[in-house]
Amino acid sequence: MIVTLEQGADLAAVRRELARRGLWVTPLVGGPSPQLAVRADSTPARREDLLAVPGVIGVAEPPSEHPRVDAARAPVRFGEVAIGPGARHVLVAGPCAVESEEQIDRLAQAVARAGARVLRGGAFKPRSSPYSFQGHGVAALGWLRDAARRAGLALVTEVTSPDDAEIVATHADALQIGSRNMQSFRLLEAVARTGRPLLLKRGMSATVEEWLLAAEYGLLHGAAGVVLCERGLRSFDAATRNLLDLGSVALVAHVHGLPVLVDPSHALGRRDLIAPLARASLAAGAHGLVIEVHDDPGAALSDGPQALHPDELATLWAPERESAS
Ligand code: PEP
Ligand code: MN
Repeated sequence: MIVTLEQGADLAAVRRELARRGLWVTPLVGGPSPQLAVRADSTPARREDLLAVPGVIGVAEPPSEHPRVDAARAPVRFGEVAIGPGARHVLVAGPCAVESEEQIDRLAQAVARAGARVLRGGAFKPRSSPYSFQGHGVAALGWLRDAARRAGLALVTEVTSPDDAEIVATHADALQIGSRNMQSFRLLEAVARTGRPLLLKRGMSATVEEWLLAAEYGLLHGAAGVVLCERGLRSFDAATRNLLDLGSVALVAHVHGLPVLVDPSHALGRRDLIAPLARASLAAGAHGLVIEVHDDPGAALSDGPQALHPDELATLWAPERESAS
């Protein structure tokens, strides 16, 4: 944002008034009129309010690179479940990977009892090692759909290839783009063209701006809404699996007003820290949580150390259920 002052305006007084409103500025020298560039980390302000400051004669806002995202300040529906500003907190839960028809059916019932309203589970798994379990693919989609229906849950599952977008969209209410694929633009386009809403994980090294631009790809190409999901960043410190960036959650929830979930499972990588970070995430402004669950974590085919037992999930979510009733 650039604020233009009238000739002879009291520059120091205008700066003081802007600072009082939480706007930090850099004077621009050399132009015909005195101007102030407002830093991006300032408190958001409405153009009309700034025009009312004595001495200000112009306020220019550069066009946004993600206009559709900026306008998308409403809840997004995964099936019947609304996620975002004004909607009640939502719990998305399920195993990292769908391991069998029986397992996903059992876990769908268990997470529904714990208060989840959306089932998650990977049919196509993006694994760092080619030797790791890659998922049961198309077969698991049918198991997921049936399990979600029986448990009365909406369903979200990941798409890893543009070729699979359509088939996943025929089974799931929402399509997940994983952290490793946040900037796979052809994948984003293919998934968005199905017209389903997206759950867009933040790339593990992506800036917030890159995350919002990826969401813009989704909206531009036809997605029925995008829910962002912070899942931790790659950092210098291996003490936790990733670095959970709750500052970005507060930013996208409170400043941008966008629907955002937090996945503390992938952020922490260990089950004993999921509950405190889940509470911190909701306090920071997240509209809900994505949590991995397994009833025999020691035998899980992927991400066992971070999986909560369904009973632990129920305990974690109990305060939300009480406040909703
Ligand atoms: C997942 O949610 O199953 C997953 C692979 O997460 P991420 O893309 O955040 O690593
Ligand atoms: Mn996982």
